[in-house]
Amino acid sequence: MKPVHLPFTLDEFWEILSDNPGVAIYAGGTDLFPKLRKGMTSPPSLVCLERIGELRGVRDHGDKVFLGGCTTHSALFSDPLVRDHFPVLAKALATVGSPHIRNMGTLGGNIVTASPAGDALPPLYVLRAVIEVRGKGSMRSVPVSQFIKGPGKVDLSPGEIVAGVWLEKEPYRIHHFEKIGQRNALAIAIVSMAAVINLSRKGMIESARLAWGSVGPTVVTSEPIEAFLKGRPLEVATLSRAAAMAREAVAPIDDVRATASYRREVAGNLLLRLMNDPHED
Ligand SMILES: Cc1cc2nc3c(=O)[nH]c(=O)nc-3n(C[C@H](O)[C@H](O)[C@H](O)COP(=O)(O)OP(=O)(O)OC[C@H]3O[C@@H](n4cnc5c(N)ncnc54)[C@H](O)[C@@H]3O)c2cc1C
Repeated sequence: MKPVHLPFTLDEFWEILSDNPGVAIYAGGTDLFPKLRKGMTSPPSLVCLERIGELRGVRDHGDKVFLGGCTTHSALFSDPLVRDHFPVLAKALATVGSPHIRNMGTLGGNIVTASPAGDALPPLYVLRAVIEVRGKGSMRSVPVSQFIKGPGKVDLSPGEIVAGVWLEKEPYRIHHFEKIGQRNALAIAIVSMAAVINLSRKGMIESARLAWGSVGPTVVTSEPIEAFLKGRPLEVATLSRAAAMAREAVAPIDDVRATASYRREVAGNLLLRLMNDPHED
């Protein structure tokens, strides 16, 4: 058994970090503990972030909302601010693992794990999330697309943590998330897509932000597709042309769950599902 530190405040946490070289940080432990069990990592001790109140919860700051890094997927999913302003994120969180994993796993853990299949990530990209990074006596803000550097690689220095995520309240008529997995429960995404779209009363696309998961080393976005959609009607012909562009934009690989060509095909097809999304009026 390794010693586990359970700080209640950030001050206690910084002290534990400086007194315990090599200590491993965790929140829900749903990514870290399987690695410990497999012997993929063997830190001398562990420190848990989940009791630190500052890092938990959802807070309204007027035109912005702060999501604490140690807030669980379940808590975020059931929060009225998240459901009202960021349905694309709520829809994605509802697909993470199983109820048990959603009750344990946190937003910060999903971001720092930086898996290409991390379900919270495509919504955070389309919502232009900004990550609040804190160190002892320091704080900086980094857009999610810059914070995630590659699979498992993020812009965190030793001694820094993800304190939370800032999202702007922007009204979109369509908030869409879809995940294709091998089964309904506990499935890792084979391909996922998040989209937020503004439509005119006549059904013309005024702005579109799109992001795909599991079809590249990190989340894939495409400014050319977003520019193509702008000013066009939301109809099958538009989406079919955008789907062809999406199949070119993604960079999937073959793995045990699916082939690259299947992923490429599905990444385009998911765009067509936007036709079925109920629009907010
Ligand atoms: C059975 C199973 C099914 C799963 N299904 C899915 C799924 O469908 N979709 C999906 O996206 N993921 C899934 N996961 C992965 C995992 O549950 C999520 O990525 C979860 O969000 C991780 O959060 P956590 O708090 O448990 O992370 P932890 O295991 O606590 O931490 C993961 C990593 O992040 C670091 N970390 C955690 N919080 C912070 C922070 N605030 N600041 C700095 N570093 C931090 C830790 O040091 C560690 O390196 C699954 C995992 C399991 C075991």
